[in-house]
Amino acid sequence: MKKVAVLTSGGDAPGMNAALRAVVRTSIYHGMEVMGVRRGYSGLLNCDFVPLDISSVADIIQRGGTILHTARCDEFFVPEGRALAFTHLREAGVEGLIVIGGDGTFRGALELEKIGMNVIGIPGTIDNDIPCTERTIGFDTAVNTVVDAINKIRDTATSHERAFVIEVMGRRSGFIALAAGLAGGAESIIIPEKPFDIHEIVATLKRGQERGKQHNIIIVAEGVSGAYEISKKILDISRLDTRVIVLGHIQRGGSPSAGDRILASKMGSAAVQLLLKGFRKRMVGIVGDEIKDFDLEWALSQSKEINMEDYILSGILAM
Ligand code: ATP
Repeated sequence: MKKVAVLTSGGDAPGMNAALRAVVRTSIYHGMEVMGVRRGYSGLLNCDFVPLDISSVADIIQRGGTILHTARCDEFFVPEGRALAFTHLREAGVEGLIVIGGDGTFRGALELEKIGMNVIGIPGTIDNDIPCTERTIGFDTAVNTVVDAINKIRDTATSHERAFVIEVMGRRSGFIALAAGLAGGAESIIIPEKPFDIHEIVATLKRGQERGKQHNIIIVAEGVSGAYEISKKILDISRLDTRVIVLGHIQRGGSPSAGDRILASKMGSAAVQLLLKGFRKRMVGIVGDEIKDFDLEWALSQSKEINMEDYILSGILAM
C-alpha cells in the first residue's frame, strides 16, 4: 500500500489530533504517503484534500478538537454520494481510508467498504457508546471535564445549601453520566439504561437534607430527558427547589488527558498496521488494556452495556 487517507467525522473529541499524529507518523515510518480529508465525509465529496507530512502533525498532541475539522454530511447517506466519494479517493490514488469518529462515521465507512475501499475505524467520540472497545478517544477527557465542573458546582451548592441538577452529554447512553457521577460523588445519577423513579430521587434528596447534607448533586444524561424537566418534577412532587446546569459543549473541548493521548497514539498506529497487513473492514478497540481489532460490520451489530455494578456502587456510596 502506497497511499492512505485519514479523516475525522461526527462530533469532535479530545484526542482526535493525537490519533491523527499517530496515523500520519506511523504511515510515513512505513514508507506510505498520507492524505488528510478535511471536514469528514463532506471533504471526500468536495475533494477537500491536504497532504500530511511529519511536520503537519507537529505540536498537536496536546490540542483538543481536530485540525482536519469535522462535519456531518447528509449526501453520504445516499449511494450516489458515496460513489462520488469513492471515485475521488481512487483518483487521488488512495488505497486505504482511516476514519476517526463515532458509530455513524463507522456506518458510513462500512458503506464505502462495500463499494471497494479498504477502511479502518478508530473510535473517537466522548460518548463511549461504541461496542468492542472499553474506551473511546475523548471519553476520559470529557469525564474529567465533568468532574471538574461538579467540584466547582459543589462548592457553591455547599455554600448555599442547594441541590443542583447537572445535565451531561452522551447522546443515547449514560457512560459519561455514570463515570462522572461516580468520580464526582453525585447523590443521584439518572441514565437512559436504567429506569428511574423520581420519588426515589426526591427521597435521596430529603434523606440528605435530614442528616445535614449541605449539597446535593443529581447528574442526568442528556438521553433521559432535559435537566429542567427533572428539576420541575422534583419541584412538583416535593416543593424542593433545585438549580439546573446544562454543561453542553465544554465537555467536547479541552486538551486531551494523558490517557486519551496514549489511547489515541496506540489506536492510530494500530489502524495503519492493519492496513499494511491487508485488513480492510476493521475497527480498533481497547479491551483489558490491550489494543484489539474487530470486523467493523460485526462490531456495529453488537451492543455496549453500561456497568451496572458501578451504578449500584454509586448509589451505595451516595447514601
Ligand atoms: P458522534 O457519536 O460523536 O456524534 P458519529 O460518527 O456517530 O459521532 P454521526 O453524525 O452519526 O456522528 O455520523 C457522522 C457522519 O457519518 C454523518 O453525517 C454521515 O455523513 C455519515 N453516516 C452516518 N451514518 C451513516 C449511514 N448509515 N450511512 C452512510 N453514512 C453515514
